[in-house]
Amino acid sequence: MKARYQYRFYPTDQQQQSLARLFGCVRVVYNDALAICKQSEKKPKSAELQKIVITQAKKTEARVWLSEVSNIPLQQSVADLEIAFKNFFDSCNGKRKGRKVGYPKFKKRTHKQSARFRIGGFSIKGNGVYLAKIGVVKPIWSRELPASPSSVTVIKDCANRYFLSFVVDIEPVQIDAKNQSIGIDLGIKTFAVMSNGEKAFSPSYKVLDRRVRKLQKKLARQQKDSSRRHKTRIQIAKNHNKIADIRKDFLHKLSTQIVSENQAIVLEDLNVSGMVKKRCDPAPPKGARERAPRHRKLARVISQQGWREFRVLIEAKSEKYGRKFVVISRWEPTSQSCSKCGYRWGKVDLSVRSILCLGCGIEHDRDDNASKNIEMVGMGHRHDLKCTSRDGKTTSVAQLNEA
Ligand SMILES: [Zn+2]
Repeated sequence: MKARYQYRFYPTDQQQQSLARLFGCVRVVYNDALAICKQSEKKPKSAELQKIVITQAKKTEARVWLSEVSNIPLQQSVADLEIAFKNFFDSCNGKRKGRKVGYPKFKKRTHKQSARFRIGGFSIKGNGVYLAKIGVVKPIWSRELPASPSSVTVIKDCANRYFLSFVVDIEPVQIDAKNQSIGIDLGIKTFAVMSNGEKAFSPSYKVLDRRVRKLQKKLARQQKDSSRRHKTRIQIAKNHNKIADIRKDFLHKLSTQIVSENQAIVLEDLNVSGMVKKRCDPAPPKGARERAPRHRKLARVISQQGWREFRVLIEAKSEKYGRKFVVISRWEPTSQSCSKCGYRWGKVDLSVRSILCLGCGIEHDRDDNASKNIEMVGMGHRHDLKCTSRDGKTTSVAQLNEA
């Protein structure tokens, strides 16, 4: 099983320059290859593209500087384009699950930059990592690498932070689960309500979000290509990173806890890639403005992002820990019946937070009841409701975020 291990590092001025050159070359090779693909009727093979945009390009005056950097990341860049095209075609034919993947785009100088080294292009030397034609960089080893990595990606994000991201083969973890199964209901107000009665609240991004919006207003007024505008852009990126880091930290801790404690985990398919889940979005009161205020729209966007990430993490960690991961259809009426006696009370307005069951006389919390139903449906204890399980591909098992 493959996992990513990421570490921050601080390059010297000299290394920053070499890395900037490398990122530039990788980007140019990618964009050149993409431009050729766009022009040609039939997409050329990867080997053919490599020959044109790397080997032959080096002989031309306009691209002679390509020989100043290691060849490996350049080849990887063309390979990345190949994958981008494959994802796009698979997504078009419906071979690929999840969100629709668009046509590959040109890489921009102002976006996140990266370059990948295969074995041969890098090696670990004591505390440092040697990168071909860059030198030895010293990452902060916040945790140990479990095995020797098969590749490393050097990343520079929009806020000028540098990372090394290693791909490592890891062994599944052997820990016995405390509980048999758990059902989880995801929402906006409470991030997760679990069938064992526990609740998890999402951290608040209000302050950071307000700061970002203020900076964005500032950015809009600033002159294009000015250094002040550039400064503001980095400030915005830094704040966005902070939001993402807080969110990732929260989701990683929560998902690790859930997966290590439970043998089977049941989630509801929220179809976050497509439409907004209606029942999570309370209807506005009568007479209210039609458009939701911005902060609420944003809360929704952030929590949707969180649900998607959460599901990916739960799925990946389930594989790592040898757990069963079940996703039930989002058309399951999990909030319309009693989790105790099965009495069906039908649709209830979202403003109703607790329901007194006519069948057994117990008062249920709406989300708590839903999470119990999700667990039952997922574990097949409720045969009148059908269960759909999904075998997904693992994307990332573990990723480390440093503050
Ligand atoms: Zn009941």
